[in-house]
Amino acid sequence: MFRVGRTSFQRNVPHIRRLASDASNQDNHIKKSSVTGSTENPISRTFKILGNDMKRVKNFILPSKKVTGEEDVDYLERYRREDFQSHCDVLIIGGGGVGSSIAYWLKKRARKGLNVVVVEKDSTYQKASTCLSVGGLRQQFSIVENIQMSLYGAEFLRDVKQLLGSDVHVNFTPFGYLMLATEEGAEQLQENSKLQNVLGAKNEILTANRLKERFPWMNTDGIAIGCHGLEKEGWFDPWALLSGFKKRAIEYGAHYVNAEVVGFEFRKLPNVLVGNSSMGEHEGLDKVFIRMKDGETRTVKFSIVIIAAGAESGKVAKMARVGTGKGVLSVPLPVEPRKRYVYVFQCENDRGPGINTPLTIDPTGTYFRRDGLGGNYLGGKSPSPEEEPVTDNLEVDYSYFDSKVWPDLARLVPAFEAIKVKNAWAGFYEYNTFDENGIVGPHPSYNNLYIATGFSGHGIQQTPAVGRAISEMIIDGEFRTIDLTRFGFDRILVDQPLYEANIV
Ligand SMILES: Cc1cc2nc3c(=O)[nH]c(=O)nc-3n(C[C@H](O)[C@H](O)[C@H](O)COP(=O)(O)OP(=O)(O)OC[C@H]3O[C@@H](n4cnc5c(N)ncnc54)[C@H](O)[C@@H]3O)c2cc1C
Repeated sequence: MFRVGRTSFQRNVPHIRRLASDASNQDNHIKKSSVTGSTENPISRTFKILGNDMKRVKNFILPSKKVTGEEDVDYLERYRREDFQSHCDVLIIGGGGVGSSIAYWLKKRARKGLNVVVVEKDSTYQKASTCLSVGGLRQQFSIVENIQMSLYGAEFLRDVKQLLGSDVHVNFTPFGYLMLATEEGAEQLQENSKLQNVLGAKNEILTANRLKERFPWMNTDGIAIGCHGLEKEGWFDPWALLSGFKKRAIEYGAHYVNAEVVGFEFRKLPNVLVGNSSMGEHEGLDKVFIRMKDGETRTVKFSIVIIAAGAESGKVAKMARVGTGKGVLSVPLPVEPRKRYVYVFQCENDRGPGINTPLTIDPTGTYFRRDGLGGNYLGGKSPSPEEEPVTDNLEVDYSYFDSKVWPDLARLVPAFEAIKVKNAWAGFYEYNTFDENGIVGPHPSYNNLYIATGFSGHGIQQTPAVGRAISEMIIDGEFRTIDLTRFGFDRILVDQPLYEANIV
């Protein structure tokens, strides 16, 4: 909040600073010429004459003290209130990886042309999926758009310092992915690999023998083939990426508001105009009600609103009557939280996979990768539908590791017979119950509602592409780079799921 205030403050008063610095330059210049005997700088003289009036003007506009101590709270509070945007062009609900990428792209492209407000209820991002993610990036998908988005994700991360700034350290670890298949899944894995390589990914299919040669720690019993990513795959720090998007978005003029969206205000709009008479009315989205940190409720009017609220997107959409209205509005946004555990463990012998081991996924979906240089690994497995844990908390079930994750790990990596769980966390997938893929684009009923959510465990790598795609929709009126039409809400209306074969 403070950073935002300072940044916009500096933006708002450049003329004052310029005046001051022009004045001091003039002063130097006149002093030099005063060697030749000229009189006092006329600007200094004017400042002196205006005296207290100038001081009062200055105190009104500039902070009188360093804005660090308690005495500055009033100033900051006043500033926060004055800076509040009661209306905007684009309002983004949720400032996680997806929402912040959208804000970044919109402001990068439109700058002052669009007033963008991001409403984020938790500026610490404690429960945000982005910060609880494993940060993996792969092109090993079966759907063209998923492959394209992740290829762009890799390109964006490669150039991240030029795009987001040299202070953004995403620590991309380029050791690839290794997806394993039994005889039954081998054909599909090969087909996927062909498609991925045609689209620009680089991976190779390895037989069980070659897998054993390349990865001697592996038990290949029951494994027919593996697909090993050679380029543009690995993992990175999702928090650093989110921070980079947010920092740059704010610098370009986006306003982040620390508040929770608690409802919508609707506005009656005519359906169709025939001559002078309207053919009925419908209700359009007009404002959001937001609850500020101090409990006060305010409204923000918007031209366009975007739901990027992660696992809570279905709930937010419901506030906009998506799923509770009539006709198209009777169809809900099928996104809800699903809890996923990530366990951090150490191998108690020296035979564990080395630091350049790819993120490895066995045919059951159990995965592991190295984590940092401390000898740690992390891993997990999505539960079956019957095993889905409750989602009213983020507590970790350690018995799930013992009964479901560890047996698979130890089968694939015999050295993992002896491992010790050191730590664990849980996070929510923003799970699309319809087909486990992102839902991106305009809502078919409201002409000013856009959606960007439902990525179901592969969303952080897609944030650069999704932010850019939504900015194209809003600024250009169409997808310009990656055509995400098939990822729209319409597929839910017409009941045409888009199944991804490689879900983890
Ligand atoms: C354990 C785990 C592992 C994962 N691993 C990977 C991986 O390896 N690779 C990958 O690509 N993806 C992975 N993901 C998925 C990825 O993290 C998500 O797809 C992505 O972070 C979603 O970003 P988001 O911005 O939509 O959601 P979030 O980061 O959750 O952000 C949504 C924000 O909306 C805010 N919000 C919600 N409701 C409101 C409201 N009413 N008002 C205001 N603000 C609101 C929330 O506070 C939150 O900050 C993983 C996820 C988990 C949980």
